[in-house]
Amino acid sequence: MNTLIKILVIGLLLSNGQLLASEKPNFIVILTDDQGYADVGFNGSKDIRTPNIDRIANEGTKFNNGYVSYAVCGPSRAGLLTGRYQGRFGFDRNPHMDPTDIKSGLPLEEKMISEVLKPVGYTSSIIGKWHMGSHPDLTPNKRGFDHFYGFLAGGHRYFPEDLIYKDIAEGLAQPPKKAWTSWYQTKLLENDKRIETTQYLTDELSTAAVKFIKREQDKPFFLYLSYNAPHTPLQASKEYLDRNKHIPKGKRRTYAAMITAVDDGVGRVLATLDELGIDDNTLVIFLSDNGGPESKNASDNGELRGHKGDYFEGGIHVPFAMRWPGKVPAGQEYNNSVSSLDILATFAGLSNAPIAKDKPLDGVNLIPYITGENTKAPHEILFWRNFDKGIVAARRGNDKTILFKKKQQKHLYDLDKDLSETTNLYQTDAKTFNKQQSEMSDWESELATEPAFKGLIMAKKAHAKKLKEYKNKKKTNK
Ligand code: CA
Repeated sequence: MNTLIKILVIGLLLSNGQLLASEKPNFIVILTDDQGYADVGFNGSKDIRTPNIDRIANEGTKFNNGYVSYAVCGPSRAGLLTGRYQGRFGFDRNPHMDPTDIKSGLPLEEKMISEVLKPVGYTSSIIGKWHMGSHPDLTPNKRGFDHFYGFLAGGHRYFPEDLIYKDIAEGLAQPPKKAWTSWYQTKLLENDKRIETTQYLTDELSTAAVKFIKREQDKPFFLYLSYNAPHTPLQASKEYLDRNKHIPKGKRRTYAAMITAVDDGVGRVLATLDELGIDDNTLVIFLSDNGGPESKNASDNGELRGHKGDYFEGGIHVPFAMRWPGKVPAGQEYNNSVSSLDILATFAGLSNAPIAKDKPLDGVNLIPYITGENTKAPHEILFWRNFDKGIVAARRGNDKTILFKKKQQKHLYDLDKDLSETTNLYQTDAKTFNKQQSEMSDWESELATEPAFKGLIMAKKAHAKKLKEYKNKKKTNK
């Protein structure tokens, strides 16, 4: 190779953290569901042991200020998968399971990570929870995922004997009381086929992940390992409960056992990468999709105020870490705010995948920031909106603002000094609040003016009415 070509090659390797096409890394996102901020060893958990998840943080970079773009499952995942604030396309609610409604899910005009990576040669798999729509045109195989092993709904039961319905329609045809929870009980899907399973669900998903990695080891892949644990229902097998006997019997022990199952799965995934010799060429990200709903699943958000659904830190500030041996600094703690919106931009940057100009990303490629090549903060400001509750929030540097529109409550916190959001500084520093509020309204003006679909909460109200009618009818017939 002559010197000029050598210089060009090295330049290509180093510019903006991008790599040559022939050296495209594999990408794995391991997402947990409703896991509390403090419920990983790397954030100081005393009772829940996560040695494998901790490897991602310890052998990589741990984000001390890692955020998701929404405080509940569906919209948070829509942001993660598109790299765009989901409010831009009206994904402001959890979608309801309705195979007849094409609006209830992620609109086809938006591109997901799988769809962005396909043109640059990636094979993608989602294993676990989808929640991006149950209409036949919105399912994973129609959204750039070559492989799907899991379920379409926002949650699932964990024991194989509980998975009894052949599809969502069969479940929905049950009497109202059963129908409402039936989508947690469908048999799993592998692509468009219903399959019989034998293992505890989390183990089933980990096994499928290992199989996919082994099958795709020779070409670039994207694996979205979307565990529904430790989301309710709280169900754990004896093996995992027995390993948590140091925790008093009750909800917290079961929740911990569910995380133990995830941690074992993470261990199996990391061991597989090592065994296949592709560890150095695989970027692994771990995060939770929103804060812990502490009273529901006995999770613990530690010093963060609030829980799932809140725009205090407890709803949106999540355990978040990234590992890529030799590329992402090991043992580093990164303090600038980062977002799940950055995941797609990071993958696109590393694989040279083109991004549609009319759908600009809200995330950035994090690699230059983590390696210190770029010493600025990845984001000047991050925003959140809950349309139905009328809440908007923003973080610029250490200044966190929250506006509760309905009550006209204004909050300002200095997160550097007051991570627990105990002292509202609005009275003493209205100027900072007002400046940030004007940025929040500018941002809001870019979003869809109405949610794109009715969502789970409204479906629940309609269901309650149906259930009442059904019971009355039964009474009259007696
Ligand atoms: Ca969740």
